[in-house]
Amino acid sequence: MNKKHETPIMVTRSSLPPLEEYVEMLKPIWESAWLTNMGEYHEELKRQLKRFLKATELELFVNGHMALELALQAMNLQGEVITTPFTFASTTHAIVRNGLTPVFCDINDRDYTMDAEKIEGLITEKTCAIVPVHVYGNICDVDRIHEIAQKHGLKVIYDAAHAFGEELDGTGVGQFGDASMFSFHATKVFHSIEGGAVVFQDEALKDLLYQLKNFGITGYESVEYVGANGKMNEFQAAMGLCNLRHIEGEIEKRSRLARHYRERLSGIPGIRLCEENPRIKYNYAYMPVVFDGYGADRDQIFEALKEHNIFARKYFYPCVNSYQCYREQFQAEDTPVAARIASQVLTLPLYADMPVEVADEICDVILAQGNGRNE
Ligand SMILES: *Cc1c(COP(=O)(O)O)cnc(C)c1O
Repeated sequence: MNKKHETPIMVTRSSLPPLEEYVEMLKPIWESAWLTNMGEYHEELKRQLKRFLKATELELFVNGHMALELALQAMNLQGEVITTPFTFASTTHAIVRNGLTPVFCDINDRDYTMDAEKIEGLITEKTCAIVPVHVYGNICDVDRIHEIAQKHGLKVIYDAAHAFGEELDGTGVGQFGDASMFSFHATKVFHSIEGGAVVFQDEALKDLLYQLKNFGITGYESVEYVGANGKMNEFQAAMGLCNLRHIEGEIEKRSRLARHYRERLSGIPGIRLCEENPRIKYNYAYMPVVFDGYGADRDQIFEALKEHNIFARKYFYPCVNSYQCYREQFQAEDTPVAARIASQVLTLPLYADMPVEVADEICDVILAQGNGRNE
C-alpha cells in the first residue's frame, strides 16, 4: 500500500513565527542590553498571557518544571502528595525534589486523568496536597477534586502543562485549584523555546513566587528563602510574544487534524479515542489512541508506523511508578488502569503544519494492521 515517507514524521514539530518577526523583536534587546531579570518583554508577555489565559495572577518561569517545583515550594508543604503516575517525569520529580512523598492515585479509563473517586482512600494524616495532571489537555474532574480538598484541608496544584489556553465552561483552566503550572517548552502548543508559568488566585503568592525564582532574594541585603534561578530571559519572552500572535490559527489547524483523525479512527473495534467533553474548549495538543483488542497491539502499530518513517510516541510509557529511580518504593500494580493504558496507548503525530495527507497515511497504516480494514 503506501510507501515509506521520505523525511521522517515526528510526533511533533515546533511552531515558529516568521523569522523577520523574531529578528525585529531582537533589536530593542540590543539597544537596551537588558537580556534577562524581568525585562520589558518579560513584563509584556506576563500581561498578555494573563489576559489570554483568563488568569487572576500569573508569574513567568524559565521552564515548566521550575514553575511547578517553585509553586510547590511556595505552598510550604510537608508530608504526602497525591498525584498520578500517568504523566511526564517532571510532575513526580517536582514533588520529590521538594522533600515530599508522592502517593500514586490511579486514573480513569475515559480520559486518563486522576480518578477522583480513588483520592479519598489514599488520604492519611500526612497528606498535604493533590497534584493532578490535565493529561493530553483533558481537564480533570476539578469540581470533585475541589470538594475533596476543601473537606480535608488540602492544597491543589495542577500540572496544566498540556492545557494551554483551555477553558471549562468559559473559565480559564488555570483558575482551578490553588495554582496551575503551564509549560512553554518548544514541543508544546504554545512555546517560548523553554518557558513556563504559574497561574494562581492568592495575591500573597505573587511576591513569594517572584522571590523564589530569583534565589529567594527579598531585598538588596536580604535573602529570606532557599530559592532557585527560575527566571525567564528576554529572548524567551520575545519568542513567546511572537508565538502568541499566531496561537489561535495554530490551535485551529490542530483542531482540523484532530477532527480528521477522529473521523478516520472512531467506531473501529479495538481502537479507543478519548471521550470529548462538550464543556471543554480544547487546544488539541495531543492525539492519544488506545489499542485494546485490536488486530495488532500498540507495539506492533508503533513498529509498523516506524517502517513508514513515522514516529509516534508511547506517551506515557512507562508509568512514573515503574521508573528505575522510583520502582523500589512503588508498585506499578497499585495503579492498574494507568499500567494498562500505558501499555496500550500511542500518541500520533499532530502539529499545526502537518499536512492532512500525513494524517491519512498514518490512519492507512493503522487500519491495515488491524481487523478493522476499511478499504
Ligand atoms: C512538558 C511537561 C512538563 C515540564 O515542562 P518543561 O517546560 O519541559 O519543564 C511537566 N509536566 C508535563 C505533563 C509535561 O508534559
